[in-house]
Amino acid sequence: MSDYPGTRGLAFREALLWERGRAGRIGMSLPENDVPRAEMDDDLVGDKPDLPELSEVDVVRHYTRLSTWNFGVDTGMYPLGSCTMKYNPKINDRLASLPGFAGLHPMLPESCVQGALKLLHELERDLLEITGMDAASLQPSAGAQGELAGMLMIHAYHAYSGKQRRKIIIPSTAHGTNPASAALCGYAPVAVQLSADGVVTPEAIREIMDEDTAGIMMTNPNTLGIFERHIAEIAAIVHEKGGMVYGDGANLNALMGYADIGKMGIDVLHINVHKTLSTPHGGGGPGAGPVVVRGVLEPFLPVPRIRKRGEKYELASDFPLTIGRLHAFCGNFAVLARSLAYTRTLGGDLKQVTETAVLNANYVKAALKGIYNLPFPQPSMHECVFNDASRRKSGVTTLDIAKRLIDFGYHPPTVYFPLVVDGALMIEPTESESKADLDGFVEAMKIIAEESATNPEAARDAPKNTSVSRPDEVRAARRLILRGETPKRQ
Ligand SMILES: *Cc1c(COP(=O)(O)O)cnc(C)c1O
Repeated sequence: MSDYPGTRGLAFREALLWERGRAGRIGMSLPENDVPRAEMDDDLVGDKPDLPELSEVDVVRHYTRLSTWNFGVDTGMYPLGSCTMKYNPKINDRLASLPGFAGLHPMLPESCVQGALKLLHELERDLLEITGMDAASLQPSAGAQGELAGMLMIHAYHAYSGKQRRKIIIPSTAHGTNPASAALCGYAPVAVQLSADGVVTPEAIREIMDEDTAGIMMTNPNTLGIFERHIAEIAAIVHEKGGMVYGDGANLNALMGYADIGKMGIDVLHINVHKTLSTPHGGGGPGAGPVVVRGVLEPFLPVPRIRKRGEKYELASDFPLTIGRLHAFCGNFAVLARSLAYTRTLGGDLKQVTETAVLNANYVKAALKGIYNLPFPQPSMHECVFNDASRRKSGVTTLDIAKRLIDFGYHPPTVYFPLVVDGALMIEPTESESKADLDGFVEAMKIIAEESATNPEAARDAPKNTSVSRPDEVRAARRLILRGETPKRQ
């Protein structure tokens, strides 16, 4: 590999602003003041704040350099499986920042916000078209809150039918938020194991589905990147016993334009707009995790709902069976505006997004097959899962491989998830990457594999080209040092 994409030579060691500051430096010059100077009483002023004295360029460079310490999808490939770190087109930001949207006050009367309500209503319609479902709510502010909304609706449905149930079936490949959302509604998660080819089978569900089970939570394709091909039959078994089918739509980017979620037998599905419709992931929010439902669950949707009457849009709350409100106002409007910008700029090309995402994942999978161990060689959708089994005798683990990738300018893939794969390396390139970028990533992975035989220390000491190498991750998260020593290489 002749060229690293971006981590050579310019990783600055950054001093704190207090260390950089010099007495007398200022950030701006103002014209001479013609008002007589008055001293303030020291008692009024109190202790002077300990602020560094700096020029404007000192401050701009400091923060701009710090921003490069963080890797982003605008910096390079970010193949984080399940999280779908696809590129966010800048036109989304431009449209969401139009003054008519960005300057709206949420308390304005409906008559003044018809355009904004129309935007939300059109996004609902797009989501229904993409999924083939009957009704939507844009309120939930993340996939996990969409899950909670869905489980609350299923809970309300059973309560309304006259008999509450206690259990919920969740496959062993599920994201951790699935059992958490079910448990928040009082349901006890019941795990179901996979077949040897990585999917849930109708036989396994038939064995455990009973009339005390509220339903099932299915992720399709599952977190191994494999399509759950028995989903319709599984849904029929669950429905036959009076249960509901929850669809985790985090992987909808593998199905958009190709699959009809309603026909799979799913009753409610959440959509992670930051994974599927190119909105920012943010540091935990603000985000959006809209839910779409089949007619049977529509009466339970959160309120207010956006209703179109003639040419007018209104916020309606007259739904007696609703689970209530999940979010102030209509959800995170600016994120939803970005989602509509994406569906509308692509239109029918959403199909091509899916095709390219699936093609890219299978390209990487084929290129690394035989070099890294592939526990489930079945055809993949938008992501593929390797593990470190073939590297272990050299002492190089999944964590080392992930850290070494940073030296080559790539964000590590998702590691140690899904839990059903020991030492998982879960790669999701997304449709954003060109063949040249995928080839660069594959080459880096091949070099790391070769090194593990000839020079295993290279990975065990990685990353070397960053300002900080391997922090104690638990301590770094729990004990933030916001002021003090400059981080040192470890
Ligand atoms: C990301 C993800 C979630 C949770 O979604 P958030 O938007 O992060 O709350 C749930 N399930 C799966 C499979 C996911 O990948």
